[in-house]
Amino acid sequence: MPCKKHILIIILTGLVIMASAQEIALDEKLFEQVEKYGQAEVVFEYPGYDQLNEIGRLIPVAKLEEGMVYCVLSASDINAFLSLNLKFKVIPREPGKAVESAMSVEEAMKWDLYPTYGQYDTIVHKLANDYPFLCRVDTIGESVEGRLILALKISDNVHEDENEPEVFYTANMHGDELQGFVLMLRLAEHLLMNAANGELEQALVDSLEIWINPLSNPDGTYHRGDTITYPTRANANGTDLNRNFPDPLNPSIVPDVENVAMIDFMRSRNFVLSANFHSGYEVLNFPWDRWLSKIPADSVWFYNICRKYADTVHQHSVAAYMDSYNNGVVRGAVWYQIQGGRQDYVTYELQGREVTVELDDTKETPAAQLPLLWDYNYRSFLGYLENAFYGIHGKVVDGNTGEPVGAKIFVVGHDKDSSHVYSDPHTGMFVRMLSPGTWNITVSAPGYDTRAVNGITITESQQEFITVKLTGTSSVTDPPGENKLRIWPVPAANHIFLDAGKFTGSRLSVSIFNQSGMLVHEMKDLFVEDNKLEINISHLSPGYYIISLTDQGGRNYTGRFIR
Ligand SMILES: [Zn+2]
Repeated sequence: MPCKKHILIIILTGLVIMASAQEIALDEKLFEQVEKYGQAEVVFEYPGYDQLNEIGRLIPVAKLEEGMVYCVLSASDINAFLSLNLKFKVIPREPGKAVESAMSVEEAMKWDLYPTYGQYDTIVHKLANDYPFLCRVDTIGESVEGRLILALKISDNVHEDENEPEVFYTANMHGDELQGFVLMLRLAEHLLMNAANGELEQALVDSLEIWINPLSNPDGTYHRGDTITYPTRANANGTDLNRNFPDPLNPSIVPDVENVAMIDFMRSRNFVLSANFHSGYEVLNFPWDRWLSKIPADSVWFYNICRKYADTVHQHSVAAYMDSYNNGVVRGAVWYQIQGGRQDYVTYELQGREVTVELDDTKETPAAQLPLLWDYNYRSFLGYLENAFYGIHGKVVDGNTGEPVGAKIFVVGHDKDSSHVYSDPHTGMFVRMLSPGTWNITVSAPGYDTRAVNGITITESQQEFITVKLTGTSSVTDPPGENKLRIWPVPAANHIFLDAGKFTGSRLSVSIFNQSGMLVHEMKDLFVEDNKLEINISHLSPGYYIISLTDQGGRNYTGRFIR
C-alpha cells in the first residue's frame, strides 16, 4: 500500500506537546478506549535506543516509525505505561469501515472480503475435504476463550509423516493485524489448486511438508464475536503474544495459553524454515530481535532470503511498497529491540530459521485491497519456501546397524549462538541451509565418535546431500567430493544429471530407493562415456529419492534428489 507515514508525521508533530491539565484528560481517554475497545493505541516521541529498550521491557512496543513510537496497550499495560511519565497522544480508534465481512463462504473465497469466524473455520475444513490426499487439518491447541487454533498440513501423501523438510507459516498473532490470515488461506488454496501443474507449487507440495496456521490469535481477531469488529492486538488475557515466548534475557516471561500450545506444536514437529506474518509496517525483519551487538551466524543467509522475498515483491508492486529500511529488509534489533519474540525463540531454541514479515503499513487493510496485497506477495510466499530445498541435506545413521541417529550438525568456524542443527532421531535426516561457499561440518552424537566432513561446497539454489555413518570406534563417513554425488536440477522433472567425471570408462550399478528405503529402480552395467550421466526418472512418482551408485571397484556413492 502507498505509505502514509509522511502525512502522519506532520499531523503528529503538532500533537505531542502536552500540558499537564490535558494529561489527566488523556489518562481518562486511555482508560475509556481500553474499556470500549479492549485496547488503546498511543504514540510518543522516540526517546533513544536504550530508553526505548527499557520501555519495551514494561509495555509492548508495536513499532518505531519516523521518530515516533507506537504502542498498543491492553488493560494490564496501562499502569506500567503511565508510570513512565511519557508525553503521549492517544490515537482515536476508528471503526475499520473498510473491513467488510463476506456473506458466505463462496464470497469469502473470492478473497476480497474478510471471512467471519464461522466462515474461516468452514474454509479450513473445506480445503481439507476438497483435497483429501493433499491437505489435512490439525489442531495446535485452544485459545483463552476456547477457540481452536488450527493448522493446515499440505503435502503429497499428507496423512503420512514423510522424510521431507517441514516448513511453517503463521499469521495474525497480533489479532488486529488482519490481512495475514486471508492471504494464508488463499495460499493454501493456491498450493492445492496448483499441486499438479508441474511448476514450483508442485515441487513444494511434493517435496516439503507445508504447515499453515492462518490465525494464531483468534480471540484477538474476533474480539467482538463472529465478524471482525474492533479486533485486538493482544489475546483475551491482554497478552502481546509476540512478547511472550521464553527469552534468556527475560526469565520472568511465562508463555500464555496460545503460546504454550504453539510451543508444544512446534516442538512436536521439526520445522527447518518458517515465517510469521504481521502488519503495521512493510518490511522483513530477521533475527536477532533481542540482541543488537550479536550478529547471527547466518546473518548473510538471512539477509539474502529476505532480500529475495522483497525483490520479488518489488517486481510486482507499486513503487512505495515494502521499501522501509534497507529496501524492505532489516535485522530486528537494528529497528528496535524486543524480548519474548517468536522469531528469536524459534531460531535460538528450536534450531529453526524464522523471519517476521510486515505486510502492510495499514494494520486493517481494506477488504477490497486484499487481492492487491496477494498479488504483491504470493510469488514470494512460494519462493521463500523453496529455500528449504537448498544447502546441506543429509542423513545420519549408525555405521553398524544403519539405524537413524539424532546428531548435532555443527558448521566449523561458523556456528555460534545456537545456530547448529540436529538430525531427526526418527529419520536421521537434517537440513542445514547455508550461503554459497565451502563448509566443514562435524557430526556428533552421544555414544559415537564425532565425525568431520570437510569441503562441502554449496552453490546458489543447489542441494548437497551427504550420508554420515557414525560408529563408536572408526569412521565410515562418506567424504564429500569422493563418495558423494552432485545431482541436479533440484527439484528434477523427468531427468536427473550426475557429475560422472570420475566414473568415465566405468560400468556402474545404479539403485534408486524411495524414502521408505524400498528399491524402486535399478540399472546394471551402465557404461559411462562422458562427464555427465543422465538418468530418466519420468516413471517415478514425485518425492524424495536416494540414489546409490556402485562402480567396478566396488566403491559406493550416494546422493539424493527430489522429483
Ligand atoms: Zn505484529
